[in-house]
Amino acid sequence: MYYSKILIPTLKDSPADAEVTSHKLMVRAGMIRQVAAGIYSILPLGLRVLRKVEQIIREEMDQIGGQEVFLPSIQPAELWAESGRWDFYGKELLRFKDRNNREFCYGPTHEEVITDIVRCNIKSYRQLPITLYQIQTKFRDEVRPRFGIMRGREFTMKDAYSFHTTEESTRETYSNMANAYSQIFERCGLSFKMVEADSGTIGGNFSHEFVVLANSGEDSIGFCDSCDYASNIEKTEAKNPPEVSEPASLEDLMEVATPQKKTIEEVTQFLRVPQKKLIKTIIFETEQGLIAGLVRGDRGINPIKLKKLVNCEWLIPASEELITKTIGLPCGYLGPVGIKLNIFADKEVSLMFNSITGANKLDTHLTGVQFSRDLNVKKVGDIRNVNEGDSCVKCDSGKLKVKKGIEVGHIFILGKKYSESMQALYLDNQGKEKPIIMGCYGIGVGRTAAAAIEQNNDEKGIIWPVSLAPFQAVILPVNFSDNTIYSAAKKIYKTLWKLGVETLLDDRSDRLGAKFKDAELLGIPMQIVVGLKNLDEGKIEIKLRKSGDSLLISFPEEIKNIPKILSNL
Ligand code: ATP
Ligand code: MG
Repeated sequence: MYYSKILIPTLKDSPADAEVTSHKLMVRAGMIRQVAAGIYSILPLGLRVLRKVEQIIREEMDQIGGQEVFLPSIQPAELWAESGRWDFYGKELLRFKDRNNREFCYGPTHEEVITDIVRCNIKSYRQLPITLYQIQTKFRDEVRPRFGIMRGREFTMKDAYSFHTTEESTRETYSNMANAYSQIFERCGLSFKMVEADSGTIGGNFSHEFVVLANSGEDSIGFCDSCDYASNIEKTEAKNPPEVSEPASLEDLMEVATPQKKTIEEVTQFLRVPQKKLIKTIIFETEQGLIAGLVRGDRGINPIKLKKLVNCEWLIPASEELITKTIGLPCGYLGPVGIKLNIFADKEVSLMFNSITGANKLDTHLTGVQFSRDLNVKKVGDIRNVNEGDSCVKCDSGKLKVKKGIEVGHIFILGKKYSESMQALYLDNQGKEKPIIMGCYGIGVGRTAAAAIEQNNDEKGIIWPVSLAPFQAVILPVNFSDNTIYSAAKKIYKTLWKLGVETLLDDRSDRLGAKFKDAELLGIPMQIVVGLKNLDEGKIEIKLRKSGDSLLISFPEEIKNIPKILSNL
């Protein structure tokens, strides 16, 4: 490939809306261009990288017996009605009608379509287990598309689905998938963690995420510094708080004036008490109506854990407007005493004495609040966020670390959720009909490539791992119009392609400095500089993008060593 012939529209400046490095660099390196919010065109260089990720995924899926299929991106509403998700999925599902007024959606995921295929085409236990996968475009009308193709609305996903007759077989495939995922992300040169995860709207009851550690990530994970416990923070368990014995004196309830002191900081500073003396009351909206969640003043409430404790379908923080309108209470002074809502409290709150809460009255708080005497709590459970340094629940000595990361893959055991609702049944060896047990497994292709940039870049640009690089080597002739240089460059180019090294030849008439800059921005692992001075001595110069190291190799004899140098990077 000659540089002058391939569309690589590099830019000096990053787009104004780009917040994260990978988005900036993908646009600057001419890999992607935005067409509409969260919708991108992938240009030649970008596509070369995405194809690399896809190929690695394909190889590893095939390795564990996955069979590739290609399902439609447009899906009929009827299938989604059968699973119950047509109503449940919400606004991320892009719905539309065809000319005959029939309803469709653009698939955000493919459980319904694949379950339909399996129920129509698999009848007997003899045909199971089976794993089917595809690499395909999804559409999710994300609330906040951002970060380029990392959180797009249209994006490419590898999604796999497995079908089984027993739990045991499901777990076996799940574990093979987990291993294949680890292989995939390792081959992509990523540093990642497999963490326990919540299963979200996909459903099911057992799930892990593969999270690439990066400060720009939208997810947080908690992991132990001593054992192998690692979990999405949404799910990271807090250790049971130590028992506290009742203090000698239990105060009575008392109203105190806290004029214009609304936040935890303001109230605790004003009353000169530590934050952990306060009980925080947070109101959520659910399909069961409004509920109140209680955590200690110095803790954050965890909506995912709360949702589990409440046992509701959905849960979102209630707006100030809704709170004032529905229960007529002043935000900033909310408290659990006498509130007419179901109350769910964190374990720590149940061990608090003489605490302080809002009084459900403007400019007023209550002191001397006793959990068992004054509060009518429906359920107590672990509903707080863990913090860095908390003790690990799984081992005696470990402390939790909390780090940001990017979720690149997600695996679930779905159980019978879809097979029961959609009647995907098989005949067992007794001739009895039974629902098929399912697993599902996703990887974001573009997000994986973007995550690789987040982990591998410097001020000059991208530093591709060799496995994902759009080209592994770029030849930089000092002066392409010089005959000696021209013929040497072409010889290297031809030899390298023959040796299987995808090579770009920078045939442009620009200064060498400008060519270097572009090569560095594009992140090509190896630059090969061809100049007269070195050629005179029978040498060419190799410069490595990652380490910045240079070395001279003899020309043409040592060109054959280049694949080995690359494979050692
Ligand atoms: P997130 O929590 O980031 O929205 P998700 O839990 O909705 O992800 P899944 O439904 O499990 O994601 O999808 C499988 C994979 O698809 C994810 O692990 C991620 O790599 C990728 N993915 C999901 N949403 C997007 C998106 N909007 N843009 C790019 N990739 C995505
Ligand atoms: Mg999502």
